[in-house]
Amino acid sequence: MSQTKPLIIDVHGHYTTAPKALEEWRNKQIAGIKDPSVSPKVSELKISDDELRESIETNQLAKMKERGSDITIFSPRASFMAHHIGDFNVSSTWAAICNELCYRVAQLFPDHFVPAAMLPQSPGVDPATCIPELVKCVEQYGNVGINLNPDPSGGHWTSPPLSDKAWYPIYEKMVEYDIPAMIHVSTSCNSCFHTTGAHYLNADTTALHAVPDQ
Ligand SMILES: [Zn+2]
Repeated sequence: MSQTKPLIIDVHGHYTTAPKALEEWRNKQIAGIKDPSVSPKVSELKISDDELRESIETNQLAKMKERGSDITIFSPRASFMAHHIGDFNVSSTWAAICNELCYRVAQLFPDHFVPAAMLPQSPGVDPATCIPELVKCVEQYGNVGINLNPDPSGGHWTSPPLSDKAWYPIYEKMVEYDIPAMIHVSTSCNSCFHTTGAHYLNADTTALHAVPDQ
């Protein structure tokens, strides 16, 4: 009698170990918001396949093997999304870079990583603007889910609740592609809420118990 080993899938993994060049590029991008002369070009970010491989093999993949899990749904580092920084264009460029890296990791380790996308959200900007990145990630990168930030302001909760029709264009695409969203905030820029100690914990409760405008 043969027994089939269950496939163990971790649905919540992030690329927290991306090569330092990513953070350095992001820091220049942030500096460029105030001083456009220092804004980096996308092409200035150079990360080789070998660097990607090493960052995964010695970290996430090593842990997966140690703990016996098979596949990780893999999205960009959540605290780095920082949707509150800059405008839609800043978020858009940043999301594209981070999603491409997760896609490349999935290409390098197709048996172990399947990508999920961050969205180019920005405070006060219509969520529908995220759709082109979502479409690209699903259709070209094979993403099987998205991370949806209910609070792109980073702890100030300036967006309408997730029950508001403003979010529907995203939900309609999720239905069309039959993909889930993980509700996931990012770094807090409100000192009342520590990022992981308070904001991450509060956000799920807040988002799922929001009351629509009366
Ligand atoms: Zn997470």
